[in-house]
Amino acid sequence: MRIAELFFSVQGEGLLLGVPSAFVRTTGCPLRCVWCDSPYTSWQPEGETISIEAILDRLAVYPTKYVVVTGGEPLVAAGIEELCQSLRQAGYHITIETAAIVYSPVACDLASLSPKLSNSTPHHREGGRYALKHDQQRLRPDVIRAFMSQGDYQLKFVVEHESDIGEILALLDQLPPVRSDRVLLMPQGITSDALRDRGPWIAEWCKRHGFRFCPRLHIELFGNRRGT
Ligand code: SF4
Repeated sequence: MRIAELFFSVQGEGLLLGVPSAFVRTTGCPLRCVWCDSPYTSWQPEGETISIEAILDRLAVYPTKYVVVTGGEPLVAAGIEELCQSLRQAGYHITIETAAIVYSPVACDLASLSPKLSNSTPHHREGGRYALKHDQQRLRPDVIRAFMSQGDYQLKFVVEHESDIGEILALLDQLPPVRSDRVLLMPQGITSDALRDRGPWIAEWCKRHGFRFCPRLHIELFGNRRGT
């Protein structure tokens, strides 16, 4: 498989926040979010080809049975089904972090679904040449519904503007009833300052709607660095 990085850290986002976890980051993503925090998997994908057996060998040295399969967009990575099946057979708790634009019934214990709002559209990057395609692909309620029916999930939204709440509520209207504490609102930002600027008004939305506030712990602990 084409892998951008393999590392051991603490989960920085979501319901398993703070849990020591191994990360398998695939490379390649059909989207081009303007603020993508791993452009080495989307705008300029890089990585090395590693067999699934070698991935498992490298994970085995980490003292955890929690693994996060992330990207890029892991659901478009060749071999993702086999990887997840092998992780399950090896006894891992598997979180898959996906933008939920492609469905596959992969082995998974927590589907971390992160549908992208219009704040992600790259209107002003590379002359906006990816903007239209991005907008056509970024929201797939049918894919989200499929993951929701498969097992445990969280819906994680990257929030940048105060107007984003309307898009979130409109998408939730297209889904089966979602437990409000499974809806996570996470500030957009790759610096502690940016996260602190947006955090307070996002927290107010969480109080109003019963949603869960989602920090970016790895940014707070380590900054925006690879391998964390
Ligand atoms: S979906 Fe994720 S990996 Fe793909 S461009 Fe957006 S933030 Fe980056």
